[in-house]
Amino acid sequence: MSDQRRRPRHSDSELGMDRRISRRDFFDGASAAAVGGIAAAALAGCAPGDRDWAASPAHPASAASGADYPPGMEGLRGNTQQALSIPHSIRDGRLGSVVNTTRVNDLDEHYDLVVVGSGISGLSAAHFYKKKHPEAKILILDNHDEFGGHARRNEFRPEGREQVLIGYGGTQAIDTPSAYSETAMGLLKELGIEVDRFKDFFDQKFYDKWKLAEEGDTVFLRAEEFQTDHLAVRAKGMSVREWLAGAPLSPESVDQIAALYGDSGDDPMPGLSAQEKQERLSRISYTDYLRDVLGCNDQVVAFMKTITSDEWAVPASSWGAIDAWGEGLPGFAGIGLDDSEASEYNCYSLRRFWKFDDPYIHHFPDGNASIARLLVHSLIPGSVPDADELDMESVVLAEFDYSKLDEEGQDVRLRLQSPCTGLAHDGSPSSAERVFVTYHRDGGLHRVTAGHVVMAAWHVMGKYLMQELPSAQRRAMTDASKQPLVYANVVVRNWQPWVELGMRHIRFTGGDWAVAQLDYPVSMGGYEHPEDPSEPIIIQMISAPSPGDMSLRQGAVHARHELLRRPFESFERSIRQTLNRALGDGGFDAARDIEAITVNRWGHGYAREYTRRWDSFWPNGPTPAEAARKRLGRITIANSDAAPNAYTDTAIDQAHRAVEELDEL
Ligand SMILES: Cc1cc2nc3c(=O)[nH]c(=O)nc-3n(C[C@H](O)[C@H](O)[C@H](O)COP(=O)(O)OP(=O)(O)OC[C@H]3O[C@@H](n4cnc5c(N)ncnc54)[C@H](O)[C@@H]3O)c2cc1C
Repeated sequence: MSDQRRRPRHSDSELGMDRRISRRDFFDGASAAAVGGIAAAALAGCAPGDRDWAASPAHPASAASGADYPPGMEGLRGNTQQALSIPHSIRDGRLGSVVNTTRVNDLDEHYDLVVVGSGISGLSAAHFYKKKHPEAKILILDNHDEFGGHARRNEFRPEGREQVLIGYGGTQAIDTPSAYSETAMGLLKELGIEVDRFKDFFDQKFYDKWKLAEEGDTVFLRAEEFQTDHLAVRAKGMSVREWLAGAPLSPESVDQIAALYGDSGDDPMPGLSAQEKQERLSRISYTDYLRDVLGCNDQVVAFMKTITSDEWAVPASSWGAIDAWGEGLPGFAGIGLDDSEASEYNCYSLRRFWKFDDPYIHHFPDGNASIARLLVHSLIPGSVPDADELDMESVVLAEFDYSKLDEEGQDVRLRLQSPCTGLAHDGSPSSAERVFVTYHRDGGLHRVTAGHVVMAAWHVMGKYLMQELPSAQRRAMTDASKQPLVYANVVVRNWQPWVELGMRHIRFTGGDWAVAQLDYPVSMGGYEHPEDPSEPIIIQMISAPSPGDMSLRQGAVHARHELLRRPFESFERSIRQTLNRALGDGGFDAARDIEAITVNRWGHGYAREYTRRWDSFWPNGPTPAEAARKRLGRITIANSDAAPNAYTDTAIDQAHRAVEELDEL
């Protein structure tokens, strides 16, 4: 597209930072009282950017009801400061400075099962337990004001659209359902989800109808890396050279990229056996492979840097070459490895998906939040007044009443904004009859007892909750540092610029955002995807802040610290700047066109993948997760960290294992 040198920065007023959007209007007027359940002392210790936990409701006119309705909250969501404050004070050994730890309110509540964490794993654990013990009393605790963990729903009410606009703030889709275990698929079926029906809900002709380039075929080369901004859109049928015509790349770089994307090539590792090639690939990053094995120049390395960021949450310099080969990334056409089987060195996700090629269409408008919502409704039928039954269609527009989640007398109670602070057996773990479960709520500590506990929270949390754990198991839990991600939903007044530019998905070569894309064309259960370019739509933007050249774990720790200190305003500025630069030639103007923004910040995002590049124990083990997930007396351990594997089905499978292990008592 345009190759004219563009000023990469716009002033705040050009960006529309002073324009009214509902999140800021509410935030400015929000008081701490509007967001309950946290001690004032905890707030006093917040970093400057931390105040952004005071997210706003989607309906500025009805702030009070919006504040009670988590899917409608805009601003900074995901792992909010409000949710992290108590867990972090435990981590830092300063819980006592936030709350009086000597005064624990002993509630007269005993449960057959307490589940810590209301993500897909925790909710599934409650589901499996209830199936085995229909009369069981269950309490589910979570530190957030929303259930579902990463499976998060965002709602908007843009002007010019009568129906609510639904987006996903985390888990995107039922990825490769053919690879689901009988257990995980069985749970979906019990909830009324028939995955085959998505072929009717997902408009698979939509992109062709509007002549929008395929995912992966639009790259925004940024001035920071390439001297000038340039949007390269590869329309159907274009060669690589046509695609990159006018891009700020040297002729040599264009030749190299054309060779990378080619269907054939010379063997880059002549003389090595297949085994030796795999071993070599398993020791280097994809960036090393491009630069040192294929001889790509710096421009080409920069062009390819973020190609792994969206899928794996790390750039190419942290992602193994063996897994880049396994995923079919450019540059391996001549290597001659048999791809009918995965390499033994490939990461677990690639190995388990290897034989399957499902289309990426198994998407609810709110992503897998619909699975969480169906689980909650089946556990707590009163959570949706007037709906005795929900199925995969009716769940989409069902309105949950959050005040019904934790009512006295229910078999299952879901207590939000209630971080667990400790799990301790009443005596020796091997013989105790019950577990004391302590949690924080409304500025104080409370205690209930449980016959069984499934710890379905992040493992890095579990090690602080269970002081009885053997030290080796605590160390193993430390390894499960989740990889940070940000999923931002940006509501724009129309999507004409995307049609104008002929694209639906942009990969950025650097900066805050790895990807910006139009929301998926899914209509179901009475919900209508925006059909016409003149209608409001959600642009979803993904940031994978882990730096390169580091192990996944190191990168996660580093990026998380930065991420959690970043205020909403900084994300907002960056979103406006980025979209103006990428879509400006299509007539986009952030100041005029952006109506609302929700930034879902997942400091604790993907369960980390074991990769041979960094984890010498892979694939032979033993792995840290095997040690971390061992049963401790009456407490069993779930969460996707227990595999580890950042997928919904894994979270379900691990919940099932954890519930089965309770029978060993
Ligand atoms: C941005 C993003 C996109 C994804 N996209 C996909 C996708 O498209 N398809 C797919 O299959 N998978 C996807 N995944 C992975 C998938 O979402 C996860 O594997 C799965 O949802 C994890 O569920 P979980 O219950 O194991 O963990 P979580 O969802 O992390 O749930 C754990 C819960 O425990 C809570 N908790 C933590 N500490 C405490 C405490 N002290 N007390 C009480 N509660 C606590 C947490 O707040 C959280 O709510 C995605 C993940 C992310 C982050």
